[in-house]
Amino acid sequence: CGIVGYVGSDRSLEVLLGGLKRLEYRGYDSAGVAVIDARDGSLNVAKRAGKLGVLEDELQRHPIGNGATGIGHTRWATHGGPTDRNAHPHLGDDGRLAVIHNGIIENFAALRDELLAEGFAFTSETDTEVAAVLLGREYRATGDLVEAFRRVVSRLDGAFTLLAVHQEQPGVVVGARRNSPLVIGLGDGENFLGSDVAAFVEHTRRAVAIGQDQIVVITPDEVAVTDFDGAGVEVEPFEVAWDA
Ligand code: GLU
Repeated sequence: CGIVGYVGSDRSLEVLLGGLKRLEYRGYDSAGVAVIDARDGSLNVAKRAGKLGVLEDELQRHPIGNGATGIGHTRWATHGGPTDRNAHPHLGDDGRLAVIHNGIIENFAALRDELLAEGFAFTSETDTEVAAVLLGREYRATGDLVEAFRRVVSRLDGAFTLLAVHQEQPGVVVGARRNSPLVIGLGDGENFLGSDVAAFVEHTRRAVAIGQDQIVVITPDEVAVTDFDGAGVEVEPFEVAWDA
């Protein structure tokens, strides 16, 4: 439902939670974040059914660090009830990558059957988890997060805004969209992604709207947009008119 991504300085958790708060107006039933810990490079996830306050209490009790790279999600359940386990982010089978998703992956049942036949297991009832497990498989096959992500989104039907981070690629968030919105926020030594400019407007008003069937890669100093085949796309920044 609501999506935020961040790369930059060591304050990702604060940016993600602030962005999710600003996206609250869309309504949601669960919330979660994944952050690559600045101290040890581990990928840490916290996610809970309920309001953002429930997630914040969980983070107080079990801090997950505050790295420079992270993603955050508020969920409006379509596949699988609103439980802690079904909340996003979803992890790949090796726990080294995390994915968040808005929308519906229409062909998730066929993809899940394919992955089950290969011996992969699932921990949620969501359509989203197939994207996380597929990404793990493709990452191991290619050793390249962007190439692996491109292979995954090319196999998904339906509507998705999809963001992913991998602990072996700190300082990178990849995203894609089809039939669901995604916007880049351009910062200074930091960059943002959001399902809506509200996700980052308190930090920057320079934005780029991602087109249909496009992939974006953000690092603290660069943003690159391509189509699903990897061909570069020219971006046109605009100024967000917003009375924040
Ligand atoms: N279909 C996904 C789920 O049920 C994403 C829902 C959303 O857009 O929040 O988890």
